Amino acid sequence: MAKRVAVIGAGTSGLATIKCCLDEGLEPTCFERSDDIGGLWRYTEKVEDGRGSIYKSVITNTSKEMMCYSDFPFPDHFPNYLSHTKVLEYHRLYAEHFGLLRYIKFKTLLKSVRKRPDFSTTGQWDIVTEKEGKQESTIFDAVFVCNGHFVEPYLPLESFPGLEKFKGHWFHSREYKTPERFKDKKVLILGIGNSAADIATELSHIASEVFLSTRRGVWVLNRIFGNGYPWDIVYSTRLKNCVRNSLPTAIVKRIGARNFNQWFNHANYGLGMHEGDQWKEPIANEELPSRIICGCLVIKSSVREFTETSVIFDDGTVEKDIDVVILATGYSISFPFLDESVIKVVDNKVSLFKSVFPPALEKPTLAFIGLILPIAALMPTAEMQARWATRVINGLKKLPPLNEIMEDIEKKNKILIKRFGTTRGCTLLVDYIEYMDEIASEIDVKPNIPHLFLTDPKLALEVFLGPCTPCQYRLTGPGKWDGARTAILTGWDRILKPTRTRVAKKLPKPSLPSLLWFLCFLALFVSLLLFNF
Ligand code: NAP
Repeated sequence: MAKRVAVIGAGTSGLATIKCCLDEGLEPTCFERSDDIGGLWRYTEKVEDGRGSIYKSVITNTSKEMMCYSDFPFPDHFPNYLSHTKVLEYHRLYAEHFGLLRYIKFKTLLKSVRKRPDFSTTGQWDIVTEKEGKQESTIFDAVFVCNGHFVEPYLPLESFPGLEKFKGHWFHSREYKTPERFKDKKVLILGIGNSAADIATELSHIASEVFLSTRRGVWVLNRIFGNGYPWDIVYSTRLKNCVRNSLPTAIVKRIGARNFNQWFNHANYGLGMHEGDQWKEPIANEELPSRIICGCLVIKSSVREFTETSVIFDDGTVEKDIDVVILATGYSISFPFLDESVIKVVDNKVSLFKSVFPPALEKPTLAFIGLILPIAALMPTAEMQARWATRVINGLKKLPPLNEIMEDIEKKNKILIKRFGTTRGCTLLVDYIEYMDEIASEIDVKPNIPHLFLTDPKLALEVFLGPCTPCQYRLTGPGKWDGARTAILTGWDRILKPTRTRVAKKLPKPSLPSLLWFLCFLALFVSLLLFNF
């Protein structure tokens, strides 16, 4: 009999998990507290309890070719970077195509997930849900936690002394939706993640003044990269990844800093990170330097103190008559429905085997999907986790013994600290290609490049030199998708389709006589130089 599994949340990770459960012969029931799919990508004018909240103008910071589910590329006419409407539309297309909706129980709040008394032998869970005020308890063979980690706002009030006396209005960025009500206001935004930069640049068009305070700066990515292609298409290739991995971290950081500074010198714009500071997730915002150079947005150091109406910064400068303060200080990981014996969050950090399985469970029947921050897109990463976890839960894959699991967790932790330090915003960061390859190896779906070079050199070249798109993980092994090869080879067409909407006339080729004239002129010029006429 098929195992009954619970999937918590019908957002990006939950939908992929339902689909993987079906692929692996599991019987999923998904509990979604709201009345629709899409998780945080479903924009609403009001913030809803327990669901991620986005602002109206949000645009993805990864591109469609890199952020799709691996067997379901975005329609070719969709733009490369997407509004929430387009991302939600894609989720709907995916859910419809794979028939996922019938497995979702909407308006059903998850109250608790508890091990059953016989857990050590059965691995089963008691799940209590609530719908229209009525509670129900159900037994499940396994649980997938897909509730997202951008839900609970992080409010580090101790870092902003005096905020309690501030007479203006202050709130967390989670509550920001649209700019109108900030017209002609003097606004201060705290923090410099993607939320802060997006909100600050948007408000800089309407507010009277906008200040953005950061304690350690950030690297800013231009969404439009080499030759106008999306940044992740250019950056996330296997070849470049091999080169990066073969160099010492210090050199990679130095080269990275030089590349970031080629667009604009971050230090000159008040955004430079201090020498020796650990790296963090770069932000994607092509408007930020432009708003700074036009004087519409001013970068400030950290806050020393708030008074009733002013803000004093660490460098001694003061900004008076601030109307609004927005704390864009990120989010906290939390699982209100889970016992601490299952997962304990310490300093916004969790200890999970390959970011999926809690190590100390007697049976590996609970998995976290999407509790990760890849330096690229979440969608395919969560899907890869779900492909692996469903195969562990249906018994086709085994986890190693506990001592090996703990060694692996320890090793990954050291790598994380070496690269990104211990800052709370970086605890879930992973390198995209390495992580995808690692999990793909667990389920035998990592592309075998030497073999590909022998059997299909055209495809091998694209897989090795081109963007490491999620479809690469559908070429072989369980879940192989027949459309993967074509999807990989036609990726560039899908990238250009929405931008090359007008065919530019080609420049006429130079005729033979004009080419000869040019060569004669060149020869004359060179001889003049050589013989110093
Ligand atoms: P975030 O990336 O966690 O950034 C939080 C910011 O708050 C950081 O600059 C951090 O500074 C600062 N901060 C935290 N604690 C602080 C303290 N005690 N004192 C001073 N500053 C403090 O949060 P976010 O911008 O809301 O983004 C959350 C996630 O959503 C990210 O993964 C982001 O990429 C994603 N996102 C994506 C988009 C998009 O696709 N366009 C838009 C918004 C958000 P430090 O760096 O110094 O710690």
